[in-house]
Amino acid sequence: MIALLLFLQTAIVTPPNLIVRQGEAIKVVPVTGTTQGSYIRADLLAAALGGSVSNAPHGHYRMSLGDTKIELVEGVPFARAGSIMVPMTLPALRSGATFLLPFQVVSGLIPRYGGGYFYDSSTRELRIFTTVTRNYPPPPPAATPNLPPAVGGGGSSTPRASRPRGLKRSGQRYLVVVDAGHGGPDPGMTGPIGGGPKLIEKHITLAVARLVAQELRTGGVNVLMTRTTDTLIALSDRGRIANRNKGDVFVSIHVNATGSRGSSAARERGYETYFLAEARSEDALRVERMENEAVRFETGAYAPKGDPLSFIINDMAQNEHLRESNDLAETIQQGMGTFHPGPSRGVQQANFAVLRGSYMPAVLVEIGFGTNRDEAEFLSEYTSQREIATSIARSVLDYLSHYEARVGGGTR
Ligand SMILES: [Zn+2]
Repeated sequence: MIALLLFLQTAIVTPPNLIVRQGEAIKVVPVTGTTQGSYIRADLLAAALGGSVSNAPHGHYRMSLGDTKIELVEGVPFARAGSIMVPMTLPALRSGATFLLPFQVVSGLIPRYGGGYFYDSSTRELRIFTTVTRNYPPPPPAATPNLPPAVGGGGSSTPRASRPRGLKRSGQRYLVVVDAGHGGPDPGMTGPIGGGPKLIEKHITLAVARLVAQELRTGGVNVLMTRTTDTLIALSDRGRIANRNKGDVFVSIHVNATGSRGSSAARERGYETYFLAEARSEDALRVERMENEAVRFETGAYAPKGDPLSFIINDMAQNEHLRESNDLAETIQQGMGTFHPGPSRGVQQANFAVLRGSYMPAVLVEIGFGTNRDEAEFLSEYTSQREIATSIARSVLDYLSHYEARVGGGTR
């Protein structure tokens, strides 16, 4: 304890304050420098984020942000976010009645586990974003099939790229990794409820993924499919395949299944697009659990659990792409609205194992409910599969043509 206090008193650097931004509203939270690194006062941080803090016995300290709980222990370089232990580079400290959190809580933990936060290290800004989960109004009638309205608020002023589609500024072609969900011994979901022509998810995802690949190639980008046959690829390997080949975008295709029971279950329908983040809603949690189930079918290769460090490093790499992934998800979701009979269930965030391993903007599209008889029929038809594939491919191409402009700098 004394050592820790001394450690604090040797504070020598004055790091810049943290800016917490929500839309136009800005709050400033002071940051304390020590020789070891930066700290931030738990109470001030929680207040700026609209959360709360509480003491627990034995030097435990808990910060609640919405339904996310982050727990730290004085002097211990680990944090618990929900049920996950996260290694920290510095321990939490106490100075009198003040509890100090390592700055990593701001730069890593909250964006990762809080849901709806984005940390920009260049401006030292923690942004609270409110557009993460959004349900779209019904699509406009006809006419504007493949160009969704510009995404992300200010996106309407994004300059259009003048170079041919599919090419990076460097002249290289983009590489899109297309992932057909499930496969081999893992069939994914089956439907529909109440009988009718049987739908098996792994077959639909492969059929649609192949068409997406075809459309993308026609659009001038390179494509890599994680599987082209009825085989099982470990969830973690799907992302790895994408990384190894330096993919620019990762798109995973899936068919949804109802989580409800009783007579309403079979009626559930619609399409939704996910990007990586901690799952927020009950429904997102359900889809996340369902899609992560494939791990059951995997042997050997899949072993991320024993290595929390690689997990968090992974995770921070992905976090840089969070907003890009969100934009891509919105573009795809809006595109689907131009022809899909089901309602838009919006853009969602969830923590899919398949998205977790990829170091690029990554989304997972649930193209409809295989449990609903009408939608199962729709998903089984070649013409619908082609419509879905064309729409996803066009959205990816649109997204890519804005990508470099948005990422900025143009030095990629
Ligand atoms: Zn699936």
